[in-house]
Amino acid sequence: MAISITDPSFQQCIVPTCGATFSLGEALVACPRCGNLLDVAYQWDRLSVPGKLADFEAQWARRDDPHAASGVWRFHALLPFAPRDQCVTVGEGQTLLHASDGVGQYVGMKPGRLFLQYEGMNPSGSFKDNGMAAAFTHARVLGAKRAACASTGNTSASLALYCSVTRLLKAVIFVGSGKIAFGKLSQALDYGALTVQISGDFDDAMARVQEVSRDLGLYLVNSVNPFRLEGQKTIMFRVLEALRWEVPDWIVVPGGNLGNSSAFGKAFFELRELGLISRIPRLAVINATGARTLFDLHEEQGVRWNNGKPNLPAIDEYHAQMDAAGRRASTIASAIEINRPVNLLKCLRALEWTNGVVRHASDQDILDAKAQVGAGGMGCEPASAASVAGVKALVTEGVIQPDERVVCILTGHQLKDPKATVAYHSTDQDQFNEVLGSRGVRRAAFANRAVAVPNDRNEIIKAIRLYG
Ligand SMILES: *Cc1c(COP(=O)(O)O)cnc(C)c1O
Ligand SMILES: [Zn+2]
Repeated sequence: MAISITDPSFQQCIVPTCGATFSLGEALVACPRCGNLLDVAYQWDRLSVPGKLADFEAQWARRDDPHAASGVWRFHALLPFAPRDQCVTVGEGQTLLHASDGVGQYVGMKPGRLFLQYEGMNPSGSFKDNGMAAAFTHARVLGAKRAACASTGNTSASLALYCSVTRLLKAVIFVGSGKIAFGKLSQALDYGALTVQISGDFDDAMARVQEVSRDLGLYLVNSVNPFRLEGQKTIMFRVLEALRWEVPDWIVVPGGNLGNSSAFGKAFFELRELGLISRIPRLAVINATGARTLFDLHEEQGVRWNNGKPNLPAIDEYHAQMDAAGRRASTIASAIEINRPVNLLKCLRALEWTNGVVRHASDQDILDAKAQVGAGGMGCEPASAASVAGVKALVTEGVIQPDERVVCILTGHQLKDPKATVAYHSTDQDQFNEVLGSRGVRRAAFANRAVAVPNDRNEIIKAIRLYG
């Protein structure tokens, strides 16, 4: 379809048979013509893009410039939808890629081959800040006054933080009651956001926030917002940067609403289109066993993006059966406890672009992997560890080879969900059962139990000699 838009950046329906385009000046979360998701798209030939990825290193010398220091906006040329000086930053994306041989050994990889990308190091403690910086930038361009999201916790923490720091918008947050980890809820409250607890789960909150946002004209910052995903592309740019611009073999990421996996696919697709990389890594998206819509559709039912003609009736039928049976997502990994992933179609497209695979990990395997990430690194929240559990399964299957280069995205900080961590390491069987037993978790293979000692110098010394 011909573009009648003057700006080299615009919005476009992802379904090729529609392909409708819209200006950046509209706040849209779906194509007004066909209801499908939108991309932010670019006429790259009208924009100035560096000739090679290493050109971005020039930004490193400019740490006094907040846009060069931001791990999102130092790649502005690859998400140039707003003028650089208008881009919102609170210092997101100062994240690290660590080689982790301890965790690598646990999952069956050879030394030096497993890397952990710590997105929990973001200001609000999760990768969501990458997307929020971009969404806030678009909201500022539009002059929006109030923003809203539905959240399993981290989107709301991120939105609330960007509101409190920038004062550009006021936040309204929808959460399912009892469904949000304490660390995340504490952030939304502390940053001063209006928090609306709905009796229901994430999917209920998501449906309501879309309605209410339409009615009240709130700017929606869930990952149906295409600008969010532009910011999240930069996680991949930083991975490449940390690998000195070499492309790894695999990117492994937990899958909830599938915004991240969709953004990663778009990042690599665009880099290859621009001639900045010659090969695309394979994507592995890891669901929780108790929330495996993507796995069921992609791996069991063979639903594919299919060049923009996915089997939509099969997807509708899957959800209808889920509703009829009263099946609801249930996992300790609350950040990926989702029935209807809003970015499903974009993720199917990303899986096609990257020759990707989908697996699921049980809560038991997720928590064991999480304990390994803690013992062998900086730790993460439960959902993040699904990526590590997924690698272990894929190595066992022979899909990932032990000498391939694998990057796991650790999406959220270790302190987000202390309840799960403490219960896992607890000596108190009742506490273990209350938090984890109901999830089908039976053992804590890597528990680091506290040692109870009387308040007595000699007993303490004895205990240290015995256990230390
Ligand atoms: C949001 C979130 C996810 C899920 O990411 P999607 O983009 O929705 O698939 C995974 N882990 C953590 C910690 C999150 O906050
Ligand atoms: Zn459309």
